[in-house]
Amino acid sequence: MLKVVNSAIPVACWSCSVKQDEAKLFCPSCSKIQPPPGADYYAVFGLEPKLNLDVAELETEFHRLSRKLHPDRFARASEHEKDWSLADTALLNDAYRALKDPIKRTEYLLQLSGAQIGEQNSGKDRRDPSRAPADLLEEVFDLNMQLEEMRMARASGESDPNLEKSLSEAKAKFEGLLNEVDTDLRTQWTAWDSGEESAQAAAQKSMIALLDRRRYLRNLVRDVTEVLGD
Ligand SMILES: [Zn+2]
Repeated sequence: MLKVVNSAIPVACWSCSVKQDEAKLFCPSCSKIQPPPGADYYAVFGLEPKLNLDVAELETEFHRLSRKLHPDRFARASEHEKDWSLADTALLNDAYRALKDPIKRTEYLLQLSGAQIGEQNSGKDRRDPSRAPADLLEEVFDLNMQLEEMRMARASGESDPNLEKSLSEAKAKFEGLLNEVDTDLRTQWTAWDSGEESAQAAAQKSMIALLDRRRYLRNLVRDVTEVLGD
């Protein structure tokens, strides 16, 4: 298994002093609230770092923990415990948001395993045509010309039904490609979750490329949607 950067540190409960291998929101021995564990989002839910996860189960656990952290429950607790209930709630919310969304989850786990992903790491402007995936270069070039024509037509109050139709078709095509990317990503999840090191390394590389492609396609779809105004 590729090393997932795990910041969990064995800690002793402040209340009952029982040592835990992994910091949790509540002490498993005495049930007292704990300070926000400096662990990853998976550990907050007591989950293995995997990409295939049961979102319904995650949601149930999120609601269970949210209720346990509710400020009303700490009305008569110490100031520390009150503060922790707020900090733990913030951590729980962040963790839930990151893990419930399949794309955010993929990005998060890749980052956790040390991968550099995202626009800020590509070092290129999103409008830079050289960023287009090689198989789409020509289409992106045509699309950009059509978008420019459409913007000019719009600016001068003209309508161009043929151009509109062609842009709608392009949009549908790119949306279809986005769906393909999502299907491919899910295939890689399973390879990653196998835990086998070489499979994980290959899956990581594929997923980084797929996420780049996805971001690119999403920007294209957004540009076309903006220009079409629907
Ligand atoms: Zn305890």
